[in-house]
Amino acid sequence: MTASRRPKSDALFDAAQKIVPGGVNSPVRAWKAVGGTPVHAHSGAGCWLTDVDGNRYVDLVMSYGPLILGHAPARTTAAIVEAAAGGTTFGAPTERELRLAERIVEYVPGVDRVRLVNSGTEATMSALRLARAATGRDAFLKFNGCYHGHGDSFLVKAGSGALTLGEPDSPGVPKALAELTLVAEYNDTDEVRRVFAEHGDRLAAVFVEPIAGNMGTVNPAPGFLEALRELCDAHGVVLVFDEVMTGFRVARGGAIERLGVVPDLVTLGKVIGGGLPIGAYAGKDELMRQIAPLGKVYQAGTLSGNPLATAAGLATLEALEDRGAYECLEDAGAFVQAGLEDAARAAGVPLFVGRCGSMICPYFAAEPVTRFDDVMASDRERWVRFFHVMLDEGVLLPPSPFEAWFLSTAHDTEALEHIVRAGAKALQSVA
Ligand SMILES: *Cc1c(COP(=O)(O)O)cnc(C)c1O
Repeated sequence: MTASRRPKSDALFDAAQKIVPGGVNSPVRAWKAVGGTPVHAHSGAGCWLTDVDGNRYVDLVMSYGPLILGHAPARTTAAIVEAAAGGTTFGAPTERELRLAERIVEYVPGVDRVRLVNSGTEATMSALRLARAATGRDAFLKFNGCYHGHGDSFLVKAGSGALTLGEPDSPGVPKALAELTLVAEYNDTDEVRRVFAEHGDRLAAVFVEPIAGNMGTVNPAPGFLEALRELCDAHGVVLVFDEVMTGFRVARGGAIERLGVVPDLVTLGKVIGGGLPIGAYAGKDELMRQIAPLGKVYQAGTLSGNPLATAAGLATLEALEDRGAYECLEDAGAFVQAGLEDAARAAGVPLFVGRCGSMICPYFAAEPVTRFDDVMASDRERWVRFFHVMLDEGVLLPPSPFEAWFLSTAHDTEALEHIVRAGAKALQSVA
């Protein structure tokens, strides 16, 4: 038996498993889908992550999305340090909160008002409460394969049988609450029309990831989001785009700008916090003015809009105003996609690469992946072997075939070529 390349990761993981559930503070980090000891991070610089054993990897996890400028970008780090030196939280309004909100209003189409929270989960829970309050209805619709954080109403899967009533997807979620969550197939416009015909007038909201990034990277079919918009309008339902992942990632104005369909509410997180905990929900004035203290819908937070998160977020959004940032991200994504597709052809491996800008996900599938069933039908066993070869080649992928890879402006030519070279080798080895 060869010695582990990561003895210190092994030791930390053994110790952590004794006192932290599964040894991790968020489930996917436990590497259950791929096996082995998770790489324990020591530090990051640009697109590189160094583990506690001194191994270096080109990082494609990028903290699952926030790090659009790479690890520890100088301007962001300086802004965090400066903010920290002046006090980390006050419980009083600050100028940075206003400046961050102004940027969101300026860039995200359809947004008049913004409320900052501390995570994407908080953002979606709050947006759902607002939609329920505004409509006086309790039920809402979401889609198979989309993720909206771990709020009770969202941890729901499609029920069995013909009807769309949801069932708890985790112990501890009340059945009575889950029944208020209806679940349809992403990209299945006909099914959505059927759900609306039967339940449209009791729906408070439709929640959707306009570009689905929690089942890899699945783009909306032509007309799908437009149909949601039209059906929500016809039935007085609040359309919510969950752009926690895609906001300021696929374009400055997120999927809304990129695809041109404007929802009533949008949830944000990840990139707008520049690597610190943050979330936001935002939208039309007539809805957002119902939030306390302006309106009656209660939502609050001790650390909401805190100086560190808003300083990091502002520095990030400012850097993204540099000309060429999004072109750079688009080019990086296109380069990796083309490199993987060429290598797959050469290796004779069926591969479909889903991509939107700098979000990318290769599936071992012969046909395009457009919905959750397709994702589940892809060859996951082959993907796991691919993951481990990539790791040996110094490329750190998210440890699940359902997670998007994230590129950043720090992934330079050298790193991109490294990814494609490793990918070619990995594809050969799983052929
Ligand atoms: C990450 C994510 C969330 C949850 O955000 P947290 O900050 O992890 O709570 C919600 N929705 C989408 C689309 C996400 O990608």
